[in-house]
Amino acid sequence: MDKLALFGGRPVRETFLPYGSQWVDEEDIEAVTKILRSPFLTQGPEIDKFEQAIADISGARYAVAFSNGTAALHGACFAAGIEPGDEVITSPLTFVASSNCVLYQGGTPIFADVDERTYLLDIAKVRERITPRTKALIPVDFAGQPVDMRAYKNLSKEYNLVYIQDAAHSLGASFSGDPVGAVADMTMFSFHPVKPVTTAEGGVIVTNSEEFYEKLRLFRSHGITRDASKLEMEAEGPWYYEMQSLGYNYRMTDLQAVLGSSQLAKLEQFIERRREIAKRYDEAFVELEELGLLRRPYQHLYSKSGWHLYVIQLGLDRLTADRRTVFEALRAENIGVNVHYIPIYRQPYYQRLGYPLGTCPKTDAVYERMITLPLFPKMSKQDICDVILAVKKVVGYFSESN
Ligand SMILES: *Cc1c(COP(=O)(O)O)cnc(C)c1O
Repeated sequence: MDKLALFGGRPVRETFLPYGSQWVDEEDIEAVTKILRSPFLTQGPEIDKFEQAIADISGARYAVAFSNGTAALHGACFAAGIEPGDEVITSPLTFVASSNCVLYQGGTPIFADVDERTYLLDIAKVRERITPRTKALIPVDFAGQPVDMRAYKNLSKEYNLVYIQDAAHSLGASFSGDPVGAVADMTMFSFHPVKPVTTAEGGVIVTNSEEFYEKLRLFRSHGITRDASKLEMEAEGPWYYEMQSLGYNYRMTDLQAVLGSSQLAKLEQFIERRREIAKRYDEAFVELEELGLLRRPYQHLYSKSGWHLYVIQLGLDRLTADRRTVFEALRAENIGVNVHYIPIYRQPYYQRLGYPLGTCPKTDAVYERMITLPLFPKMSKQDICDVILAVKKVVGYFSESN
């Protein structure tokens, strides 16, 4: 076995391979430059086209584009009527935006524990955390694997809750044949460069509710409307507009929207490529899993994942190193591993808000063992081989039997 790069050996590859990256081609670049020469740079016709395309893909009636996914989640919490005193149940094993959006509205995020195989919220644990103050649920489609949307729909109906889905990872995925976006009251997609397709920064909420749709549109543009049929007072003249609620400037630009539309043409192809790479990893790591050295990502029988992330769990009982050492060893091999995510309640800000530790034991247990491997459509065959080689080299080196 070659000496680990961590101990001065030769790394598996010479250049650093990131865990995720966009794929922008000449077509995309041409589409964006065309808009730069057009009369509209922001809130022109490209926004409508992009919104329509996202609504079509997700099987929802309406779509509202935002400047980023976090702003979109904020909009969803506003539309859901989250106020001080309201509780919203979400996952602790996600990006901080999933719960920060509740805080923006003065609400209280409540964390429920995850399933240790899928890393998705455990719906039984969600049910246990419902109180008379619960107003909404925000399950997260971790790594691109959708939650059981019908189960969440039923639960939210039973308790009269708003069901918001954080689908930042899962555009184009489905569960039991339902496309992500078709079932929840509101579903958020992110278009950050590492996400399924990109607009540089961008977010969209899809919904079937006209009421939510109208609120979201007001919210992203200062709470202002010019629509004559929706005015509260009489128009003073043709210049008249009304600010009806406290909104923000959360608009997406036409430059972003046209990039999104151009990228969407490649969504299926991107997801297919992600699936292929995940399959290669799955095949390559069977043996390591049988030896108890790692656990591969578990897929629910009915879900078709978007494979945003490929997350392994280290079999720490069979290894002579902890996660940090394995992580550093892989980085030294120039493999851009990552960790998704630090449980939100461990963050200093949330600690200062008084969130107790130890209420989500499965989240804490899996967090100690998780490592995200590089996975993005533009990876070459060699990149994939390098990741496999490096994992076998490092995990093999630290295996108890070595
Ligand atoms: C990326 C992400 C967001 C936020 O999206 P931005 O577009 O980066 O603001 C929210 N939730 C999850 C799970 C994410 O991965």
